[in-house]
Amino acid sequence: MKFICIGRNYAAHAAELNHSVPEEPVFFLKPESAITRLNRPFFLPDFSEEVHYETEIIVKINRLGKCIPERFAHKYYDEIGLGVDFTARDIQRRCVANGEPWEVAKAFDGSAVVGRFTNKSNFPDLQSISFHLLLNGKKVQSGNTSDMIFSIDRIISHVSRFMTLKMGDIIFTGTPVGVGRVEINDRLQGFVEDECFFDFRVK
Ligand code: MG
Repeated sequence: MKFICIGRNYAAHAAELNHSVPEEPVFFLKPESAITRLNRPFFLPDFSEEVHYETEIIVKINRLGKCIPERFAHKYYDEIGLGVDFTARDIQRRCVANGEPWEVAKAFDGSAVVGRFTNKSNFPDLQSISFHLLLNGKKVQSGNTSDMIFSIDRIISHVSRFMTLKMGDIIFTGTPVGVGRVEINDRLQGFVEDECFFDFRVK
């Protein structure tokens, strides 16, 4: 499987990183080895001084698909969840400045935290899901999918023009404003609406 991650899908987050708002979805990949499974600890890598959380709605692909028209994209997923796209921000900044790929900042072991999933039928409107992150009990990020620049269906349609989506692939749909640094012993709890979807510590 692979992780497909959307960058800059919330205008306020793009602004906090001094990025422009894209005209098409911007995406990058993480390998399967990046996974941190439900409620396992996240281990801070030793090569970065500034690892940031990015809380994101995630979508699990349920069948093989290529060049999926947007109007059929909803058939390619049943489950919605919450995850964290951990990012070595200091290294990402260096990569961007040097015009280099982002993998070292984004695709390292453990960097894709996958929380719980729930059937999409539990939501009346997928483009109106609220979610938030508590860092040591304090709310530091809150978002709503209504603020996404590109909808889930648009993302699936766009990505599948370039690469085949396979059963079990997971899409990270982008983070809202409020990203920040984590430190050892931090506790991260993610909520969709008012339900806890992950609860883990940084080690
Ligand atoms: Mg992200």
